[in-house]
Amino acid sequence: MNYQEIVDTLFEQIKSQENKGEVASYIPELSKVDPSHFGICLKTMDGREFGAGDWQHKFSIQSIAKVLILSWAYKTLGDRLWERVGVEPSGNAFNSLTQLETDHGIPRNPLINAGAMVVCDMLLSQAESAKDDFLSFLRNISGNAHFQYSEHIAQSEKSVGYRNIALCNFIKSFENIKNEPEEVLDFYFHICSIEMTCQELAQTFMFLVSDTIKSFEGKIILEEFQAVRVNAIMQTCGFYDESGEFAFRVGLPGKSGVGGGILALHPEQYAIAVWSPKLNSKGNSYRGMKFLESFTSMTKSNNF
Ligand code: GLU
Repeated sequence: MNYQEIVDTLFEQIKSQENKGEVASYIPELSKVDPSHFGICLKTMDGREFGAGDWQHKFSIQSIAKVLILSWAYKTLGDRLWERVGVEPSGNAFNSLTQLETDHGIPRNPLINAGAMVVCDMLLSQAESAKDDFLSFLRNISGNAHFQYSEHIAQSEKSVGYRNIALCNFIKSFENIKNEPEEVLDFYFHICSIEMTCQELAQTFMFLVSDTIKSFEGKIILEEFQAVRVNAIMQTCGFYDESGEFAFRVGLPGKSGVGGGILALHPEQYAIAVWSPKLNSKGNSYRGMKFLESFTSMTKSNNF
């Protein structure tokens, strides 16, 4: 399969069409991003790499980091994790408060804001310095020693993070947050602030493409059954209340972020990162969704 030709053809095709949607504006730093950016990177299991457009331009990965924090928590805490967060799609917006009332503060899954906050809380209780340890985990699995938190993006989100502050306090009222909400939110905003290029993002997620991929230290990152489960959660919950639509159109496990990035992967074949900042009404990259739908249909790699 001539992947470079496919990536280039689809890139040009989608770039020539109208770029619909809106850049996320509720986080001041994200609203400053040029909406015309568009980049793709495909990385295959056999180590090949194919890029197009702004694939080496850094952007804020936002919620895509929830999969990384989940993976680290799963590795560290094992099945204890599922006592405090579920694995069901929420069918609700990423920052919704409504189900928490009826679910007594147990978030539906770890890929919505509420769920990621509970995961952050569990890690804070476990690690001496969760923020530093998470960065080490990230650098180790990606082989990239330069990954850092973006202080200005974290502070920008913190300055207007009223809904997330409400979410965290609400969960605390059900005693499913053990640490101080301020500390949990600080960790949460920092993991969301990380910036990567499409190339770095695809590389970072190779550990979920195959469980034989080793960390920088030469160790298996997740056990096979754990990697399979993280992929299952991405498949069913990775796109908020558009998770069904993504499975229907694209057919791969994946995760989006309000920075306009989408990471999707095909187990045993490839990881693919797409970035285009304009979001559809559900908060997922408009061009990213379009590109991936065409890509899996052209390469016949829809999981179903
Ligand atoms: N930091 C963002 C928030 O909490 C993440 C949301 C997303 O990327 O979907 O609102």
